[in-house]
Amino acid sequence: MSVNHMRDTQPTRPLLYTNEELDRAGHHREDPDWIAAARANPSAYWIAYWRGQFLIEGDASAARAVFDAAPSLSAPFVFLGLWHNQPVFAADLSPHADPLAALARPHGHFAELRAIAGGLPGPEAGVLATARGLLWWQARHQFCGVCGGACMPERAGHVMRCTACATEHFPRTDPAVIMLVHREDRLLLGQSHKFPVDRNFFSTLAGFVEPGESLEATVRREVFEEVGVHVGHVSYEASQPWPFPASLMLGFRAEALTDNITLDPNEMRAARWFTPDDIANRHALGFNLPPRDSIARRLIENFLATL
Ligand SMILES: [Zn+2]
Repeated sequence: MSVNHMRDTQPTRPLLYTNEELDRAGHHREDPDWIAAARANPSAYWIAYWRGQFLIEGDASAARAVFDAAPSLSAPFVFLGLWHNQPVFAADLSPHADPLAALARPHGHFAELRAIAGGLPGPEAGVLATARGLLWWQARHQFCGVCGGACMPERAGHVMRCTACATEHFPRTDPAVIMLVHREDRLLLGQSHKFPVDRNFFSTLAGFVEPGESLEATVRREVFEEVGVHVGHVSYEASQPWPFPASLMLGFRAEALTDNITLDPNEMRAARWFTPDDIANRHALGFNLPPRDSIARRLIENFLATL
């Protein structure tokens, strides 16, 4: 198989929770008059968020976000950008006990994004992921981490400014690495305690970047901590927003230099080397891979496609 042909076999569909059609139009955040006019524009899109859930129609197999959920009462909001040339806002109805009653046109129902994301059109999942990350951050930065004063949103919800000491607080994204560890054609996959036992998932290893650490160093440290395997070359593959609550998953391929697995039982239930045949025969062997919309699955499929 030629190199070019191998590349052609790699999946190219966008990862879930990404949306490159959304124009974040950051310059409009600086213009309160433009934001006020856009909020009053009857064709603006409004997404309704309530206590970690979004207003949708349909169910997990075929869901659509509701984009006319303008609030009838005052609610914290964030300007997400322009989509199909229309301004997109998300309103946080969490202070209201009955969020449907706080809408100008109540319809649909609220659902957790992770539960329905696979049934949404891909770009909608990306817009909701952006809204979730921003509104979750805003709700948890009501008070200043410097002086304890009250914070108020500015720049269309993208900054929380302290009313006492004027410190500006910005949305945070926590980088996490996720890596397909391989030695020649064998893959090292593990089972975290967080995975449900009955599904018998085996997935790529992952972990958070610590202050002062490069991404490559995080990959090597996490692999050694979790399974005791030394890693050499590390190469970047792709990334996936993971606003549950505030991560960015940075996907890597990592070449193992050693074979022996020494499991950290606090982190992992199990970890094993798998051949490509094991993966192909996983149903007969009684284990599963992570869901198709995950970057973990993408890293595994990309690796198998290059063999
Ligand atoms: Zn302050």
